[in-house]
Amino acid sequence: MLGCTKCGRWHSDAENDIGRRLSCTEVKQYWTGIRKEHYDLYDHYPQISTDGAENWICIKCWRRLKDPMNPIDPADDTFNQKGVEQQLTRIGIALDLGTSGFRGQALDLDQNGLILSTAVTTRHPLPGANVIDHLHFALEIGLEKTHQIVLDAVNTVIDNLRIEKDQIVRLAVCGNPIQLSLFQKIEFRDLAYAGKRKLDALGVEPPKRDAMIVKANEISGLDLSPEVDVLIPPAVQHEIGADALAMMIQTGMLDMKEIVVVTDYGTNNEIALLVNGKVYTGSTAAGPALEGQHIEDGLLALPGAITDVEFEPETLTPAGCSSRSSGRLCLDNNIFENDGNSDNSSAIGCEIGATKSNITGGGKPIKGRLKTFVLDQDMNARPGDTVDPNTGKQLERGEIAAVGITGTGVVGLISQCLKARLIKIPRIDTLDTEIHLSNGIKFTEKDLLEAGKAIGAVRAGHITLCHEAGIALNDIKVAYCSGASGTYVDAIKAQEIGMIPAGVQKIYQVGNTSLAMARDLVKTDDALWRMKKVADDLRQHHCMFAASKTFEKVYILELAFWTEGMPFSQYRKFLKKYGLPEIREVTDRPEVIKTVERDIPDLGRMGLKIVSDIGRIRSFCFDGCMGCEACVIECPENALKMETGKDDFRISINLALCDGVACRRCERACKDKVFDLIALITSPGE
Ligand code: SF4
Ligand code: SF4
Repeated sequence: MLGCTKCGRWHSDAENDIGRRLSCTEVKQYWTGIRKEHYDLYDHYPQISTDGAENWICIKCWRRLKDPMNPIDPADDTFNQKGVEQQLTRIGIALDLGTSGFRGQALDLDQNGLILSTAVTTRHPLPGANVIDHLHFALEIGLEKTHQIVLDAVNTVIDNLRIEKDQIVRLAVCGNPIQLSLFQKIEFRDLAYAGKRKLDALGVEPPKRDAMIVKANEISGLDLSPEVDVLIPPAVQHEIGADALAMMIQTGMLDMKEIVVVTDYGTNNEIALLVNGKVYTGSTAAGPALEGQHIEDGLLALPGAITDVEFEPETLTPAGCSSRSSGRLCLDNNIFENDGNSDNSSAIGCEIGATKSNITGGGKPIKGRLKTFVLDQDMNARPGDTVDPNTGKQLERGEIAAVGITGTGVVGLISQCLKARLIKIPRIDTLDTEIHLSNGIKFTEKDLLEAGKAIGAVRAGHITLCHEAGIALNDIKVAYCSGASGTYVDAIKAQEIGMIPAGVQKIYQVGNTSLAMARDLVKTDDALWRMKKVADDLRQHHCMFAASKTFEKVYILELAFWTEGMPFSQYRKFLKKYGLPEIREVTDRPEVIKTVERDIPDLGRMGLKIVSDIGRIRSFCFDGCMGCEACVIECPENALKMETGKDDFRISINLALCDGVACRRCERACKDKVFDLIALITSPGE
């Protein structure tokens, strides 16, 4: 038996079997074939060793690879483990550290990065729902403890990939600078404070955040063999993170001649606008509603989530219909005119079961039903129940039962219910001011408020970047939508409610670009150095929305529109007055190109594992606690529990459910002033 020093595989066995000399590539193919054959037969990749007679065996199932019907006895002393090291599958882990949760994939590096399995968390492990909350938490609790929580979650994701951990040789991460800094346990306070004076006063030296490959033992708490390579992608200064770079690289936007915008819709909306070869970037952390969080019955894009909604009016008059979206309600192209004064003589599409005069303004809701679409186990949208929006009564049974509504479902619902006049921003015009979906799932006025804040932040971001670049909003002709929300959302509905500029003619829906980038990185170092070159060569201008007067002005208008019902015509007048890019109506149906069917297009042979128990539990007995449970009752996220002990009351917190240190409603609810959120969060875990 001869092992090749170049490819690390046994040439002699392969060559004896085939009967001629083989190249390293051919030898690799030979062993890949053997492994695949074993997988097909026994549903696991073999962990290959040799017995005393130098027969190849799998030490997971003790079968001979060439004679699988004749298993060996592992207690047989002729068995030896010679060769195990060299024949193990080399596995790489791609990890997307997103703001709403972590996503990991295991790849077989010996099979050109074949995806083996996928694991996703249902939440981020840190308290809070956006990067600002995560920053606040890290500032309050300290980097060490925050890093530990993040690494716990990373290790849990890897454990749930269902592969042999000792076969992992590489890990690549991608995410925004905050998530990557917390993962690496490096200085992050430069991301929290914009002012140089403040940073100097704190003695903060911003780290370089360059591309690098480190060993696993340099990332404390990472439960992998110390020799595993960990690939860290670069940021451009600290402003444009690896996730934003991934978005630009994976979409290919940098090679485009037109004016193009890429938006990663999620908890943290990353936006990149390309104008004449220069990239204008910004990111907003206005709220997690576009990921289905902070919505009462919301959840991430996971199996069981309502991902889209269609309103079906009671009466259909299809004759003469020129619908933008065939088979859908297509009442009006200006669904925002809620002041009753709009003249939409150029409205696209037809009125279905209602006359033009009662489309716009504050007319009565149109009678009809809501048809839902729900994600199945493979993350494909399937028909869900059709219900009466006033009561939730099932009118037609769907293929899949829903357990909640995700961000794209919220977008679909708002778009359709605006047209059906069930929503008159900021109110819901149903019997109980709630829109009812299947299985008791409802959408409330508070949810509308949350969603409006998130949608408004996206549009404010687009307007601000256009202003920075000196272009009109309507100059943008191509839009890429990434992230789970950007992939599953009905792009036409998203454009109708302002999440995609009105003049865009081509919309690409491209999936999770951050995870796609991590997959590229884990396959080869070259991808990392190419990414670094893009970062080094980027002609860019970053707009800190938090410090931008333009963003502030537009976002205030958005808030007035979404939360106070300011007429849309008024909003547009203000934009004109401020000399800001005007918002036009959608007049043409854009071409929608879905480059992927799912945000993670390939879940691997072993499929998806959803990790719902990512939250670490901390508990504490406060001195003087009376056990009144006011704190527990007040918590909006049900993150707290109380147990009555013999002499005391123990309060426990699920960190992943908590809204973070910006909330603290529990503390304020405690009349005895004994509740201490920081003491609870930093108490020893279970
Ligand atoms: S009330 Fe307290 S425990 Fe509940 S979300 Fe707010 S800070 Fe977290
Ligand atoms: S509100 Fe205060 S006193 Fe009441 S259970 Fe909570 S910590 Fe104890």
